[in-house]
Amino acid sequence: MNKVALITGSTSGIGLGIAKHFAKKGYHIMCHGLEANGPEIAEDIKKNYNVNVGFSNANLINANEVEQLVENTIKTLGRIDVLVNNAGIQYVAPIDEFPNSKYEAIIAINMNASFYASKAAWKYMKKQSFGRIINISSVHGLRASEYKTAYVTAKHGVIGMTKVLGLEGAPYNITCNAICPGYVRTPLVEKQIPDQAKSHNMSEEEVITNVMLKKQAVKSFVPIESLADMALLLAKETSSTITGSEFVLDGGWTAQ
Ligand code: NAD
Repeated sequence: MNKVALITGSTSGIGLGIAKHFAKKGYHIMCHGLEANGPEIAEDIKKNYNVNVGFSNANLINANEVEQLVENTIKTLGRIDVLVNNAGIQYVAPIDEFPNSKYEAIIAINMNASFYASKAAWKYMKKQSFGRIINISSVHGLRASEYKTAYVTAKHGVIGMTKVLGLEGAPYNITCNAICPGYVRTPLVEKQIPDQAKSHNMSEEEVITNVMLKKQAVKSFVPIESLADMALLLAKETSSTITGSEFVLDGGWTAQ
């Protein structure tokens, strides 16, 4: 029986890479995201990998839409085995210029949505005595950088949530782990370059080399494929004792 994976934010960047990787391994996919071409992306995954694919553009800023996304997955694909809480946004500004609305949106999408989605999936995972929850946190779940109050707060929160769900899931063969990437070249990062250039008063090229990759020992962006490989490993039946942990793919950033 093919397992079903719901990957939030899978019409772009890291989520899309994970969705394709899982589809290649025979998972049915609930594809989700706000990109306008989302339905076509979902259709392409279905065609290219010959698996069942659903699509949703639920706005994860609203708790009830997060819950509906999980219910939709059950309705469309029959079950939920793997939940990858990946959708996220970023905003970069010094605290005294940080708009409250941006702070609240980041906390809602990057942190609270993981709670609502995990809670909604929990009853199905518990009933089938199998569940794999994978939270895409960040190196910023473990370390801070200036001008990222909301993001760093949310990503640290996700690590805490991961540990609690790891403990609570243990009796039911539900695992919960976090992946903490360094910099990955996706639309989210592309959007940060001009903002960071402004905040740091630097050119865009200087931001990439002197700010983004400065803290990584390996001076290149983290490949999406390595994150997708890690997610696949965590999703396996045999990974039942890997739980409540964070897996850091950061080019040596936190080794220092
Ligand atoms: P991305 O911008 O390419 O993709 C983000 C996805 O989230 C998109 O599909 C978007 O539609 C979806 N999304 C955003 N707001 C949403 C909302 N309100 N409702 C529903 N969906 C919404 O970004 P990415 O770089 O692929 O990031 C994916 C995850 O990885 C994020 O949680 C991000 O914080 C994390 N991350 C990224 C990097 C990096 O360097 N790119 C590093 C560490 C962690």
